[in-house]
Amino acid sequence: MARAAEAAAIANDYPDMTAAGATAALAEHLGLPADHLVFGPGSAALCQLLLLVCCEPGAQVVHQWPSFEGYPSMIGHVRADAVPVALDGVDTDLDAMAAAVTDRTAVVMLCNPNNPTGALLDQQRLRRFLDRLPDHVTVLIDEAYRDFVLDPGYRDALDLVREDPRVCVLRTFSKSYRLAGLRIGYLVAQPALTARLAVLRMFFAPSAPAQAAAVAALAGVAEMRQRCAQVGAERTRLRDLLIEQGWQVPVSQANFLWVPTPDAGEFTRHCAAYGLRVREWAERGVRVTIGSPATNDAFAEVAAGFRAAARQAVAP
Ligand code: PMP
Repeated sequence: MARAAEAAAIANDYPDMTAAGATAALAEHLGLPADHLVFGPGSAALCQLLLLVCCEPGAQVVHQWPSFEGYPSMIGHVRADAVPVALDGVDTDLDAMAAAVTDRTAVVMLCNPNNPTGALLDQQRLRRFLDRLPDHVTVLIDEAYRDFVLDPGYRDALDLVREDPRVCVLRTFSKSYRLAGLRIGYLVAQPALTARLAVLRMFFAPSAPAQAAAVAALAGVAEMRQRCAQVGAERTRLRDLLIEQGWQVPVSQANFLWVPTPDAGEFTRHCAAYGLRVREWAERGVRVTIGSPATNDAFAEVAAGFRAAARQAVAP
């Protein structure tokens, strides 16, 4: 934030349109050539850009569902048809997704870990899935929450980008680096695809303060990892508390937990009455972001109160 404020003080000038400093820092950080990287004003904007580049009107875009709520409207913006594929419990149903691919499919979107469930797909399963897809399909792997995956054995999708010209990966500074308001994210793909994106990308974005903050953030990776480890520890602690209360909470690899309940609306209003904002998925459940230990304790108490009230309501 300090670097962003310094850049804002001289923001009478235009930003570097090529984001050269941020691109060089990121190339070094990821161990990839600069021509594999495209910066944009948030990963959502880059997702829109990819759809714009890959989809003719009437093309199909296959994606998991439930997943990031932004996907269906972004697909609609480019006049493509969304093909949502239901999760199998909380797991992504890759067989059903492969079966949903047709000659009209332009893009397959995979959110990993998935928002709102926090479930993770490992690289082996992704590889087998890619083997089943035709060459004309671009596969967008949205790793917005990747830094919250704490399993040291986990291999992210950058390996797949190196091997496969159909694959691109989306990342953001909004979550683990906590810079959501500055709007900066990036896409990683082989140069044939990044060159197509560069033609249509938004002029003069990201802003100079956002570029400066990204460079500073990459210099503070150790601090970011430490904070993600704290989030992970709280994620486990809160999940254990909820399971003790009788909730069925799946393991999450993101900075939130998925709390399935058919009473999602009522539970959301109950939380709001205690000043806690959760994300409601009508009749399916709520997504609760991992907060400070005190906020997580407050949520656990409110969740226990909701269960006790529900039990009383059904008691004779
Ligand atoms: N992808 C996923 C899966 C998200 O959950 C979000 C934000 N909720 C985004 C992308 C957008 O992030 P950004 O701030 O980088 O646009």
